[in-house]
Amino acid sequence: MAAADLVQRILLIGPPGSGKGTQALRLSQKYQIGHVSTGDILRRNTQKGTALGREAQQFITSGDLVPDRLIFDMLEDLYKRADGEHQGFILDGFPRSENQAEALSEFLESRGQRVSAVLLLELADDEIVERLVHRRTCSRCGRSYHLKSSPPTSEGVCDGDGTSLVWREDDHEDVIRHRLQTYHGQTEPVVAFYGKRGVLHRIDACQSIESVTLELSAIMDRLAHASRGDSH
Ligand code: AMP
Repeated sequence: MAAADLVQRILLIGPPGSGKGTQALRLSQKYQIGHVSTGDILRRNTQKGTALGREAQQFITSGDLVPDRLIFDMLEDLYKRADGEHQGFILDGFPRSENQAEALSEFLESRGQRVSAVLLLELADDEIVERLVHRRTCSRCGRSYHLKSSPPTSEGVCDGDGTSLVWREDDHEDVIRHRLQTYHGQTEPVVAFYGKRGVLHRIDACQSIESVTLELSAIMDRLAHASRGDSH
């Protein structure tokens, strides 16, 4: 097997509030691979008022998926940002519909590549609502805090860069419930899509952040070990 096959292309999937962003950041730092979150890109565009941001805003605010067309337009750029220098990536929050999963497969296949593993963070709806209504997020670096279980050191500001924390509009309970409906209706078929392809790993996200990272790391290490074994 060629060295390029040792590259890990990981998808992190899960309902809103399951810890995708936090874990993706930790894994990308630990394994030195690129990390791209479609949610973060869309939010940055809405903050800057770009054409993409203006179009995406209403969908984000109401808890719907932005149309696939907007996501497909981002795909090439997404890939360059994620894979560019790092040779390997973690995509966080993409794909979120079966159409997106198919588009990603085609895109990677045309480059002789494929998804190495899909890491699914599982969490019950009630736990998600509890986590998200108390979540406050740094609008600059995206780091998130829970007002009860992991508050910032100084009230209302990010420990990392001192930026004011925001209560995302889509982290209010009515929108959270709608985002969950969207997840169950449109994103769960993606789980089945990758389950059939034998690359799906399920992780219980109701553990501490550190325990989830350990479990995800163990999977990443096994994958790396297996591909090194294959290459001999
Ligand atoms: P997130 O930060 O991942 O929870 O994403 C916030 C919002 O951005 C979602 O509720 C969607 O409106 C939108 N979004 C993020 N990623 C996607 C995607 N892959 N497809 C469609 N909409 C997305």
